[in-house]
Amino acid sequence: MQTIYCFTWEEVSGYDENMNTIRTYQVCNVFDNNQNNWVRTKYIRRRGAQRIHVEMKFSVRDCSSIPNVPGSCKETFNLYYYESDADTATRTSPAWMENPWIKVDTIAADESFSQVDLGGRVMKINTEVRSFGPVSRNGFYLAFQDYGGCMSLIAVRVFYRKCPRIITNGALFQETLSGAESTSLVAARGVCIPNAEEVDVPIKLYCNGDGEWMVPIGRCMCKAGNEAVENGTVCRACPSGFFKPTQKDEPCMQCPINSRTTSEGAMNCVCRNGYYRTDSDPLQMPCTTVPSAPQTVISSVNETSVMLEWMPPRDSGGREDVVFNIICKSCGGGRGGCTRCGDNVQFLPRQLGLTEPRVYISDLLAHTQYTFEVQAVNGVSDQSPYSPQYASVNITTNQAAPSTVSIMHQVSRTVDSITLSWSQPDQPNGVILDYELHYYEKDQSEYNATAIRSQTNTVVIRGLKPGSIYVFQVRARTVAGFGRYSGKLYFQTMTEEEYNTSIQEKLPLIIGSAAAGLVFLIAVVVIIIVCNRRRGFDRADSEYTDKLQHYTSGHMTPGMKIYIDPFTYEDPNEAVREFAKEIDISCVKIEQVIGAGEFGEVCSGNLRLPGKREMFVAIKTLKSGYTEKQRRDFLSEASIMGQFDHPNVIHLEGVVTKSSPVMIITEFMENGSLDSFLRQNDGQFTVIQLVGMLRGIASGMKYLADMNYVHRDLAARNILVNSNLVCKVSDFGLSRFLEDDTSDPTYTSALGGKIPIRWTAPEAIQYRKFTSASDVWSYGIVMWEVMSYGERPYWDMTNQDVINAIEQDYRLPPPMDCPSALHQLMLDCWQKDRNNRPKFSQIVNNLDKMIRNPNTLKAMTPLSSGVHLPLLDRSIPDFSSFSTVDEWLDAIKMGQYKDNFASADFSTFDVVSQMTMDDILRVGVTLAGHQKKILNSVQMMRAQMNQIQSVEV
Ligand code: AMP
Repeated sequence: MQTIYCFTWEEVSGYDENMNTIRTYQVCNVFDNNQNNWVRTKYIRRRGAQRIHVEMKFSVRDCSSIPNVPGSCKETFNLYYYESDADTATRTSPAWMENPWIKVDTIAADESFSQVDLGGRVMKINTEVRSFGPVSRNGFYLAFQDYGGCMSLIAVRVFYRKCPRIITNGALFQETLSGAESTSLVAARGVCIPNAEEVDVPIKLYCNGDGEWMVPIGRCMCKAGNEAVENGTVCRACPSGFFKPTQKDEPCMQCPINSRTTSEGAMNCVCRNGYYRTDSDPLQMPCTTVPSAPQTVISSVNETSVMLEWMPPRDSGGREDVVFNIICKSCGGGRGGCTRCGDNVQFLPRQLGLTEPRVYISDLLAHTQYTFEVQAVNGVSDQSPYSPQYASVNITTNQAAPSTVSIMHQVSRTVDSITLSWSQPDQPNGVILDYELHYYEKDQSEYNATAIRSQTNTVVIRGLKPGSIYVFQVRARTVAGFGRYSGKLYFQTMTEEEYNTSIQEKLPLIIGSAAAGLVFLIAVVVIIIVCNRRRGFDRADSEYTDKLQHYTSGHMTPGMKIYIDPFTYEDPNEAVREFAKEIDISCVKIEQVIGAGEFGEVCSGNLRLPGKREMFVAIKTLKSGYTEKQRRDFLSEASIMGQFDHPNVIHLEGVVTKSSPVMIITEFMENGSLDSFLRQNDGQFTVIQLVGMLRGIASGMKYLADMNYVHRDLAARNILVNSNLVCKVSDFGLSRFLEDDTSDPTYTSALGGKIPIRWTAPEAIQYRKFTSASDVWSYGIVMWEVMSYGERPYWDMTNQDVINAIEQDYRLPPPMDCPSALHQLMLDCWQKDRNNRPKFSQIVNNLDKMIRNPNTLKAMTPLSSGVHLPLLDRSIPDFSSFSTVDEWLDAIKMGQYKDNFASADFSTFDVVSQMTMDDILRVGVTLAGHQKKILNSVQMMRAQMNQIQSVEV
């Protein structure tokens, strides 16, 4: 209760309703007219409030209860306020009147009183509340005006309203005062409590005139790893063993089975060791583990197929997604261990990801032992560091007939014959004894079919009708009997018109391929064509004779795959499709140019085939602006290479023909071509390493020879070397042999094509007899190139000199430090009679023996020995062309030792020719390479002296 200044109001004691003594301000001048009695509060500070509320407790005497009271008696009073920035009011100021005072209201009592009791009046106390605003000065006064009533003012409470500091909806709102009007809403911004984050913005509440918060907008929620507690006023970190994955209005959850937390406030629980979760497993799901092995695998073998069935694993690892994979290993095979089965084995419904506990496996090899591992895997198996658990079963397949021949194509045709070739069945299931070809004219009944047997997979069917379509089917036979017939294929013989047109087109070729007697041969050909049609047909076939040797040579193993010349295809593009895999250009990334090929740049790059690991590859490109013929010639190399599969033959990955540039993609050989590799590493390898390289080349050549492929250009420049020093035969392009290519001097024009003279056997130079035996000759030259670290065969001799020297039985001498066993093998390869040369299989065996017994490589060849006189080593100059030892030393590039020789008195050829290794050491030659060079030159000098003497004798 504020102190009230009083003029006509009196401060008196009285009683309240409960008869407690109270102090009041009273006025009761009802009998005097024109009353105007004021009482004013002291200065009240505003304290930021905009609206002020005043609660008054008072009592009013009922006028009618006062005897003889005049009509001017009042039962109301007025409430005023006056704003001021300072406490400046005095007895006279502000003046006691409305304006400057502002009237709030006239206050009437709800209840007035009239009784008098025990010398005092029993008052009825009224309580009235009024408010006013806006107020803006620092403070104000209140005043109460009586104008003729009888009343007492018991208490006045002055207050303002505010909304309290509050935490609601995850946000803190500070205390906020109500607005100036009772209807005002004052907006307040909330701030998220610690560890909470806004979910809807803005976060607001409104404070109304009664000091109540209302209209909440937006909200904050506890972050992941925290939960709301204490009525949502605190976000608390999840305790250990509990987690909350999201910012939801949810409590923390207990970690699922087999998982745990690593700290408080966890958003997830990590799996215990040995337990895992997949990316799609919900965090509430227990962690799971790998399944145990499948149980009781039962197999039932039928010829070359097997049905496997098993029971599901005892423990699925706690998951529902268990599937089974089959690992197939063929065992025994003569080598003891087991190897993974090849791609040809078929699995039904599939090999991996089997949902049912059974699989049907077919196309196995006959009479072979297999081990099948049935793995159980589930969604988390790939996270386990251990291989999946499996149950295995061993089986042995039975005898079975060969599988069906799937590819058959026409090699050539005439009016009355068709030459067909086919591939070996994918599953021979034993040694193929022969093939049976069954054919009949398309319009005839199959019952009239003719069957012919062939030991090879090529056959010429003769005696056919011109221009007729025939139906062909072929099947293979092993000791287990015949396989099934292939599907029917239709081929047509030439009509006579087609034949005549083709023979005219081919005439120049036939003439071009003749070695001698040119005019005579033309006459013979013409006579044959004109005079004898039947024999003329045979001549037409003879155009292919060179190519057909591949199919008809007698020593071929039945069932062995043979090489098919892509040019025997009527459409060589067909050969590319058959033998080379088409690669999409998007799988190829070219990195850098590494060389120049005949048709364009050779690059290195990367190849990433779908589902395979990225590999480094070499990419041969066909430069733009090519003719159709160049494209065909370029791709022919791929059609050839694609038929080979051997560790010492360069491997074709595939071709890009559907986009530009056209490319041939092969495995990458880090050390490039053998000749330059050896030159760069002169003297760096042991003899065994060199023999190892030679063995690889011989093995690759044996494989090619077994396939009836004649390379014709075996040379160190056409061998590629990888980072493991593995040598692989490459360069199967044919175009360098063609007449019109004059760019490379290595290939000398000869009748019927260009020939690399220094590498080529005499019979191939003289009458183009290219065979595996002529490849053996070339192999001998490669041996010499290898042992001399890339020296040019026959040094700077002209091609004609080389031809003459060979004709006179001269042969290359052993390179420096070449074991005599190796030189002897070279000489064997250079036997004049090709039948006396070793076969590649013998060369491989021979080299294997040397590798097994390195002692056989210790003996070095004595100079100028043997039946075939070796050519003198032209890398060591003839001493007789020099007049002094100094000149000779310069010529052998050892000029730096001139003074050493002179001061040790080795100054004449006679003395020098007698030098031993000790002498060479004594004159001060300390480098091993130089010692050898000088010793070799001295020995050569001695040999030359002996030759001169024998000539003189
Ligand atoms: P070619 O046209 O086959 O004679 O190739 C030209 C050159 O490219 C060769 O001499 C090698 O240096 C290089 N080259 C060709 N094929 C490969 C390969 N597969 N790996 C590495 N280099 C190669």
